[in-house]
Amino acid sequence: MSRRPIIAGNWKMHNNREESLKLVSGIKDAIQNIDLDALPEVVVAPVFTSLHVVSEKICNCGCAKIKLAAQNCYYEAKGAFTGEVSIDMIKDFDAKYIIIGHSERRQIFGESDEMINKKAIAIIDAGLTPIICCGETLEQRELGVTDSHIASQIVKALDGIKPSDVANVVIAYEPIWAIGTGKTCDSAEANRVIKGIRATLTQIAGKENADKVRILYGGSVKPETIKEQMAQSDIDGALVGGASLKVDSFVEIIKGAI
Ligand code: PEP
Repeated sequence: MSRRPIIAGNWKMHNNREESLKLVSGIKDAIQNIDLDALPEVVVAPVFTSLHVVSEKICNCGCAKIKLAAQNCYYEAKGAFTGEVSIDMIKDFDAKYIIIGHSERRQIFGESDEMINKKAIAIIDAGLTPIICCGETLEQRELGVTDSHIASQIVKALDGIKPSDVANVVIAYEPIWAIGTGKTCDSAEANRVIKGIRATLTQIAGKENADKVRILYGGSVKPETIKEQMAQSDIDGALVGGASLKVDSFVEIIKGAI
């Protein structure tokens, strides 16, 4: 089963409009001579306030090579939800993906599995694709509960979603102890956990659908690590934080996935 790899940059709470424009322009220029067919799917996830400028930069130049993602959303369509942004509002900027369940959202903002499930359902209903993050803490890893914890996160996130829709979601396995720490999870171990995620997806949605799901690794991905990560049987790309904030390192990671 061949799955088109994704290299997605999660810019987190970095970059004002000008900085966002500079970054996306740099990425666009650096990949312009690479054939679309050769590239992985390149995704950038700016802050909400930069979605407009980044979207204009990508769409005005007909740059099919870069797709837009939001870092979060709310599942209700509209109403008295101060500070939240709906999926239709994100769709307005031609975004294709929305990252949900990032460990920073779970840990700092207290997002529950139930909330992540509601977001996943609403994103799919709106015709967009959720990038659903999962991952264990260092304590859970040391306790030996990594696999069961991740299986539980996946089952809860996908509750009530049709098997044929499960096939289109993107999962990002991001061990929390590897995020922003410079400590990358051993590639073979990341691959083992990701195989476990695919086994869970098979139970939920059947083998044919599970085989279509792209599962990314995230956690201190760097230009030096990407080739080994992409050489693994079940790693279909990367969700990149810190190294996505500089044109050079992000482009090297994109090239490492070719
Ligand atoms: C992330 O935030 O999703 C992430 C993986 O960050 P970093 O690459 O900086 O570890």
